[in-house]
Amino acid sequence: MSILGKLKPWNPSIPYEILSLNISSKLSTNSDDIISSSKDFGKIIQNVFPAAVLYPSNVNDIIDLIKFSYDLSLPFHVAAKGHGHSIRGQAMAQNGVIVEMKSLNNNNNNNNGNYGIRVSWDSELGFYADVGGEQLWIDVLRTTLEYGLAPVSWTDYLYLTVGGTLSNAGISGQTFRHGPQISNVHEMEVITGKGEFVTCSKDMNSELFFAVLGGLGQFGIITRARIVLDKAPTRVKWVRLLYDDFSKFTKDQEHLISIDGLDYVEGSLMLEQSSINNWRSSFFSPSNQTKIASLLSQNKIMYCLEMVKYYDDHTSNTIDEELKKLVKGLKYLGGFMFKKDATFVEFLNRVRSGELELQSKGMWDVPHPWLNLFVPKSSIMDFNVAVFVDIILRQNKANGLILVYPTCRKKWDDRMSAVIPEEETFYSVGFLHSSSGYDECKILDNQNEEILKYCDSVGLNIKQYLPHYKTKEDWIKHFGKKWNIFQQRKNQFDPKKILSPGQRIFN
Ligand code: FAD
Repeated sequence: MSILGKLKPWNPSIPYEILSLNISSKLSTNSDDIISSSKDFGKIIQNVFPAAVLYPSNVNDIIDLIKFSYDLSLPFHVAAKGHGHSIRGQAMAQNGVIVEMKSLNNNNNNNNGNYGIRVSWDSELGFYADVGGEQLWIDVLRTTLEYGLAPVSWTDYLYLTVGGTLSNAGISGQTFRHGPQISNVHEMEVITGKGEFVTCSKDMNSELFFAVLGGLGQFGIITRARIVLDKAPTRVKWVRLLYDDFSKFTKDQEHLISIDGLDYVEGSLMLEQSSINNWRSSFFSPSNQTKIASLLSQNKIMYCLEMVKYYDDHTSNTIDEELKKLVKGLKYLGGFMFKKDATFVEFLNRVRSGELELQSKGMWDVPHPWLNLFVPKSSIMDFNVAVFVDIILRQNKANGLILVYPTCRKKWDDRMSAVIPEEETFYSVGFLHSSSGYDECKILDNQNEEILKYCDSVGLNIKQYLPHYKTKEDWIKHFGKKWNIFQQRKNQFDPKKILSPGQRIFN
């Protein structure tokens, strides 16, 4: 793509000299490209336009861009955009340059040093995959399965890039067992905010390695990650159990993550007003839906525990027995256990069918005022009363899935930038709202504010996941004792504050 002839009006934040670089033919100021690169899944932040968009065909293109900016007395911002599934403009860069990472993937057959997805083995690490930062997890899954292997830690939704989720944490129902995705990386290649290309791991350039994991894109652009792989199962037993008592629900969840046996544990709220089969999956049969709806009309709020055990041909004879043992003693409502047998891929890719359905109804591409929190175990009962019951149920505004499931601190490495509560067990709570338009979005966002205010007012030590703050003080509070190191690392790896300005931490 050539930009010559498409350059007017030229944005003054980027000097014309950029056109003397080799990357000039890969930069675009075409208004369609500018508009499309300034959109994200959240659809909340509008009109934050970059000056140009880079479509890199190799890693050197990104190095050239960042070095050029770094050498200027007035550098411009650079933001890697993975799949643009942020909620609040985190991959945007006003008057800067957006690097469309997917463009590396379009060029990874050219023997030009791009990684794509490559599976390997060595005696120290076992099986692993070297994966370009631009790769989608669904493609990582498909490729590794060709070798009978798969990553161990996932997100609920697989159409996210490796670089994008590693910049946050990458969590799901497997996190209690294997840790978040950032705990399952051996090594990375990163381009820092000085334009340096660095290979890093726990033992090599470890400061950068830990900075980048959960680092919100502040320290470098991940161009390759070496991901832990394990033997992939072929099938799963997938179970949902319903509760009308939050205490029983959470006690059972906590029990299940404390024992050996399950591969995935999550949970969600069930409200009379929201659909039983939401966008994540259609799990319940029509007759079961009727049964659940009638229960919900009495209880108004219920809780759904979701658990999965993987199996394959070798374990297919014993899986039902094992599952029976795992469920024994759990305090769900009698008659409200629902089971499904699915392939491993159907289970991992469970959100996709819901997405396609919503897309076909024009209900996917709408504003998403999401709020994701980590809530310490000691506060989860109070949180239920004050937030799930008093705010969510009473106000009757929730529109979408509300996730709630516990995970363990010991599976996270405190040297990483990701921020979690201090307690050993904490809950991941996600208010994954969809809104019909900007008016409803505002109402739901006000509700999010009310939830945050409540947590603040009673001193619940929650942490935001996929954090968003408006002031530096809030960021300092968010990072807590990690703030000094976060700042030091920023000064070390991106001293001119070039990278990922859309997070609004330093800019
Ligand atoms: P983008 O939105 O493109 O970028 C996010 C941030 O990372 C930006 O600051 C960007 O500059 C930076 N970045 C992007 N690529 C790189 C790179 N290569 N190197 C360095 N920085 C980079 N999260 C979970 O943990 N678990 C879930 O189950 C989960 N489910 C989700 C479901 C949906 C439908 C959506 C929309 C989001 C979900 N998320 C989940 C959140 C998701 O992990 C984050 O929003 C993630 O950042 C999205 O990845 P992306 O490729 O779209 O990143």
